[in-house]
Amino acid sequence: PFDMLVVGAGPSGASAAVYSARKGIRTGVVADRFGGQVMDTMAIENFISVKETEGPKLVANLEQHVREYDVDIMSGQLAQKLIPASEPGDEIEVQLANGASLKSRSVLLSTGARWREMNVPGEKEYRGKGVAYCPHCDGPLFKGKRVAVIGGGNSGIEAAIDLAGIVSHVTVIEFDSKLRADEVLQAKLRSLPNVEVITSALTTEVLGNGQKVNGLVYTDRNTEESKTIEPEGIFVQIGLVPNTEWLKGTVELSPRGEIIVDERGQTSVPGVFAAGDVTTAPYKQIIIAMGSGANAALGAFDYLIRLPAR
Ligand code: FAD
Repeated sequence: PFDMLVVGAGPSGASAAVYSARKGIRTGVVADRFGGQVMDTMAIENFISVKETEGPKLVANLEQHVREYDVDIMSGQLAQKLIPASEPGDEIEVQLANGASLKSRSVLLSTGARWREMNVPGEKEYRGKGVAYCPHCDGPLFKGKRVAVIGGGNSGIEAAIDLAGIVSHVTVIEFDSKLRADEVLQAKLRSLPNVEVITSALTTEVLGNGQKVNGLVYTDRNTEESKTIEPEGIFVQIGLVPNTEWLKGTVELSPRGEIIVDERGQTSVPGVFAAGDVTTAPYKQIIIAMGSGANAALGAFDYLIRLPAR
C-alpha cells in the first residue's frame, strides 16, 4: 500500500507527487495520460520563469522531475471508483478500469477537467490553429485580429471583455435569445466599441484554409438562415467539465461537479485531498494547478503525521 496515491498526472498531480516523495513517504501516481491537458497545448508563454515552451516539452520535463524520485508511476490507467476508509486512518481504495485496485492511507485527486467542445465540423481539425479554449493562454496570439467567442455565459463574456483589449474585433455568438452572463459583465461588454453580439445563433461549422481558421458558419435560429462570419480565431467558452463523473456520491462536489476543498486541499472524505482544475479553484492555469498540487500534498502529509501510530 501507498502512503499517498495521486490520481491524475497533469501539472497538479506531478507537483503533488514531487512534494510527497520529498517527504520520504511511499508515493504512487496513477493516471490515464501523463501530462493531462498540457499535452494538448501548443505554445505556453505564462509559465513563469520559462519565457516560452510547448506542451509536450513541459510534460517531458514534468515526468523527468517526478522520475528523479522513488515514485511508482502507473500510466494508461483509468480510476473508476473511490472507496473511503472504513475508519479514518485505514486504507482508502481506488479501483481501476482494468480490474485492479490500489490502496493508500491518503489519496490526492488531480484528475483535471476538459473544455466542452462544440462538436461541429472543423473544430478538431483547427484546434490550436485558430480554435482556442483559453483566453488567458492564447489571447495574445490573436493580437490585432478578428475573433469570435462562442458562448454568452459568464466565461464567454469575461473572455470577450478580456480579448477586446487585445484583438481588433470580437463577435460573441450565443445560442439563446439573450446573453446569460451577469448584468455587470453585460454592461461592461456594451461599453466596448469593438464588440458585437449575435444571439439565437447555433454554430454549425468552423471554416479554414487547411492551415488556419478563416470563418465560422452559424444558423440564425429565428429565420433558419445559414450565415458566415470571418474571424481569424474562435474561442469556445461553453463550459469546463471537471473529470469527476467517477466520484459522484463519494466526495462532496459543487453544483458544477467540481470537488469542494478547504485551504489545505482536504475534501469531504478524511484522507482524500484534491488539487488543480478538478477542484472549485476559480482560475484554471498550469502555474495555479502546480501550486495547488504542492499545497494539497503538504495538507495530506500533515494529515498522515497526525494519524495514530500503529
Ligand atoms: P489536467 O492537466 O487536466 O490533468 C488531469 C490528469 O488526470 C491527466 O493525467 C488525466 O489523464 C488524468 N485523469 C483524468 N481522469 C482520470 C481518471 N478517471 N483516472 C485516472 N486518471 C485520470 N494553462 C496555462 O497556464 N497556460 C497555457 O498556455 C494553457 N494553455 C492551454 C491550452 C489548452 C488547449 C488547454 C486544454 C488548456 C490550457 N491551459 C493552459 C490550462 C492548463 O492546461 C490546465 O489548467 C492544467 O493542465 C490543469 O492541470 P491539472 O493537473 O489540474 O489537470
